[in-house]
Amino acid sequence: MTPPGVEHLEVVRSQEDSPDGLNAFLAMAEPEASAPTPGPLEGEWVAVKDNLATLELPTTCGSRLLDGYVSPFEATAVRRLREAGGRVLGKTNMDEFGMGSSTENSAFGSTLNPVDRERVPGGSSGGSAAAVAAGYAPMALGSDTGGSVRQPAAFCGIVGIKPTYGRVSRYGLVAYASSLDQVGTLGRTVRDAARLLEVVAGHDPRDATSIEAPPFILPELPASLEGLRVGLPAEYWGPGLDGRVRERLEAIRDLLADAGAVVAPISLPTTELAIPSYYVLAPAEASSNLSRYDGVRYGRRVEAEEIGAMVRRTRSEGFGLEVKRRIMAGTFALSAGYYDAYYGAAQRARARIVEDFGRVFDSGVDVLLTPTTPGPAFRLGEKVEDPLSMYLEDVFTVPASLAGLPAMSVPAGRVDGLPIGAQLIAPWWQEARMVSVASRIEQEVGDA
Ligand code: GLN
Repeated sequence: MTPPGVEHLEVVRSQEDSPDGLNAFLAMAEPEASAPTPGPLEGEWVAVKDNLATLELPTTCGSRLLDGYVSPFEATAVRRLREAGGRVLGKTNMDEFGMGSSTENSAFGSTLNPVDRERVPGGSSGGSAAAVAAGYAPMALGSDTGGSVRQPAAFCGIVGIKPTYGRVSRYGLVAYASSLDQVGTLGRTVRDAARLLEVVAGHDPRDATSIEAPPFILPELPASLEGLRVGLPAEYWGPGLDGRVRERLEAIRDLLADAGAVVAPISLPTTELAIPSYYVLAPAEASSNLSRYDGVRYGRRVEAEEIGAMVRRTRSEGFGLEVKRRIMAGTFALSAGYYDAYYGAAQRARARIVEDFGRVFDSGVDVLLTPTTPGPAFRLGEKVEDPLSMYLEDVFTVPASLAGLPAMSVPAGRVDGLPIGAQLIAPWWQEARMVSVASRIEQEVGDA
């Protein structure tokens, strides 16, 4: 299959350069560079987020600082998909270093939402979501630190899975916030997203946080939901929820009940701690992880008379505004005088969030059903000037990230013609259960 409308070999540098105007890709593979190998993904195209290291194509993380950088090694997730016969179609646009919810923070221009080109595709894996939604590839790899696979999947009307932390190797995934980062999969269908996960998952000695867990095996779909206990967290379904989103989610709740599931409200009182805790911890980790971009080891260097000035100029010119904001906030949170008040407090909040989910799942709840986002895709430019409103986009996705739980978004229908996602959150390692429920929702909702 040759994907439609894309010229190969082009390295796109801005939205104007993108052949179809969507700007989903930053680089396209040469078709012959990835001849298919036999395997479960034989000959299938997979779009790969530009923070996963590939050998033939640049890995820029959507940053000027890594413009043109080609990795000397390959990410484990990419190697696994190639060994399974998959072919890397190209590298997808993203918010710089994964920091954002709209792909507007890419140094190479925003990606447009293929459903409505005046709207954002979500982020930070917006290029991967747009590539799948536009039909360039049936599946894509992304990364999810606080929602970056699930939220763009919801905005583009496709499926996005964030596995349990430790399920997929982070080797070759450029670090944003290491205790949260996880490679995730996007697909046109639940089956596509799940079979890509099946291929890329598994223990990897090259990632010290990779865990030897029971493997994820694609379940027989659709599975019976008879007796399955579905929890509806009151804090996600509160009075603040957009009425149109609520209506869609209630329809999903009812269809699960009709399929034999036992649906009941539950409470996760620590939910309100998630955003403040995440927006301390993620920048703190980022400020440390991004210290490696010094003009010496990776990517771009801006020369100066002496080394200190060279590092300053490289970082000042290489990083975009949001990345600088996060580095400053993170450095502040980790500074000696404020460490306990900010970083320490955020860590304690995170521990409580983990306990809260644990209590709910221990009480016999099998899976949680929530909205993926507060509303449908917003307009390009609508939130760029207001970082806090952008951060609040992550209110429903960040808690599962902090707890390391598997979570996914599945299309839940449309409001005003725009896709809405339902999020499922499962206990650690229970991706198969989550995928079964999603498949049932997909079968009933049928948003393609
Ligand atoms: N929007 C969130 C952030 O900016 C999540 C991004 C992500 O998951 N990479 O940090």
